[in-house]
Amino acid sequence: MAVQEQAPADGLKQFSVLGVPVHLAENYSSWLLSRAQQKQGCHVVTLNAEMTMQAEQDPRLAQVIHQAELVIPDGAGIVFYLKLYGKHIERRPGIELAESLLQAFGQSPALGSVFFFGGAPGVAEQAAAIWKVRSPQLTIAGIQHGYLAPDDQPQLERLLKELQPTLILVGLGVPRQEFWIAEHRHLCPQAIWIGVGGSFDIWAGTKVRAPEFFRKNHLEWLYRLYQEPWRWRRMLALPKFALKAVLYRLKALQ
Ligand code: UDP
Repeated sequence: MAVQEQAPADGLKQFSVLGVPVHLAENYSSWLLSRAQQKQGCHVVTLNAEMTMQAEQDPRLAQVIHQAELVIPDGAGIVFYLKLYGKHIERRPGIELAESLLQAFGQSPALGSVFFFGGAPGVAEQAAAIWKVRSPQLTIAGIQHGYLAPDDQPQLERLLKELQPTLILVGLGVPRQEFWIAEHRHLCPQAIWIGVGGSFDIWAGTKVRAPEFFRKNHLEWLYRLYQEPWRWRRMLALPKFALKAVLYRLKALQ
């Protein structure tokens, strides 16, 4: 499967990684903020090797990724894949994109309000409290933990519809958060919706992000394995992805 380069009408270059798209922009947060100013909604997917492998097995997930207006290269595997085709791109971790948007929303209250959804009870509240200190002008319209009973979902839906936040961070883990966003984004059509995985845990301090050395050397996954060894089975997707990437590349060269 070759890397196909496309330049769609919205100006973002797009590459295919094992069948799912990844978009390239000089500055993702500026791109998103200009969309926000024009009140154009957006679903942001933060793509890594694990999610790409899941999408290969699950056409519903692949479809959700295809429908997202912005797919950013979150993982070292995606950067590695594109490098095999001579495309040198920089990794953009989703948590950093979310942080730069929260900062921008704090600096320009006219952009609207934010909503935190996900994490264990108390975690998103703690993350919101940290953000209120970091960015006192930030308007946090609402907070909801991620373990809602199905009977309580309609109340959350009503709340979102009423509040119309313009930045909605959803931290339910992959792929639950991607499906949830795809299903609910019509409730706030002008909002930027991002699946942020465990970002609330990091901001709240219940989990620690890999130190700089690991991040710089594309070894964040190794630190994660050390912190959460129970993930080893899930993380087998990483070597499988790397092997697949190399085999596809060799095939394309023949
Ligand atoms: N989570 C949640 N509801 C659920 C399952 C998970 O809110 O039903 C939260 C969990 O508390 C954690 C996040 O989703 O904060 C998943 O974090 P992880 O780092 O595992 O994300 P991933 O690696 O899947 O992106």
